[in-house]
Amino acid sequence: MALAISLVGEDWAFFMDVDGTLIEIAPTPAKAKATPETIGLLERLNLRFGGAVALVSGRPIAGIDQIFDPLKLPAAGLHGIERRTSQGKFVRATVQHKAIDEARAALNGIEHGLPGVLIEDKGDTIAIHYRLAPHFEEAVMTEARKIVLRAEGGLELLPGKMLAELRPPGPNKGSAVADFMAEAPFEGRKPIFIGDDTTDEDGFHAVNNLGGYSIRIGHERVGSAKHLMRDAAHLHAFLTMLVTRPVHGRT
Ligand SMILES: [Mg+2]
Repeated sequence: MALAISLVGEDWAFFMDVDGTLIEIAPTPAKAKATPETIGLLERLNLRFGGAVALVSGRPIAGIDQIFDPLKLPAAGLHGIERRTSQGKFVRATVQHKAIDEARAALNGIEHGLPGVLIEDKGDTIAIHYRLAPHFEEAVMTEARKIVLRAEGGLELLPGKMLAELRPPGPNKGSAVADFMAEAPFEGRKPIFIGDDTTDEDGFHAVNNLGGYSIRIGHERVGSAKHLMRDAAHLHAFLTMLVTRPVHGRT
């Protein structure tokens, strides 16, 4: 379903994933960077919609800030484990470290056994990337499943695009949206969640339940997003239209 542009209202609130949504996925996570145009566009969107624009990513907030430097928007990092409110307050969920510490130990050296596989240790979560060695997908998934089984409920496996992520159960992108929506300037607005991957399903569910719009970036109609947008370029065109055209009333 195409999003009816006539419905755009000034009471919208935006929750956007970063990699694969606002920016193209880089060969390795450290190489990702937003263009000045994208940063400027987000700045204008944030002004246009009263500061109700948040980034919701699997990256830590410090990593999100590097990508959009010097812009610092409200953000949820590590799939909702950490959050920066619109007032700039940092909120962090309490996470059990035992399981993730054991996972870290189990993954130690895996890059030597599976050349090209990259471990991204984010502290509270660990992502195993096989983008540079796609033939190791099955080996990575098998190892990740083993670690999750051993953790006996202490870890969840989140498969993503060319990666497997290990994270403690609990906070997710949906709970992050709910937390933002309970605070100004998000409160009372219509939430729009835009994402591209499995981890964004929690966000899609959250806004569907709140009567908002869920938008998946991609070509395939999979998961629970109600709308589809082809790629980051189409999203940028959509956001540009939002900041340049006048908006009226509540939708
Ligand atoms: Mg993504």
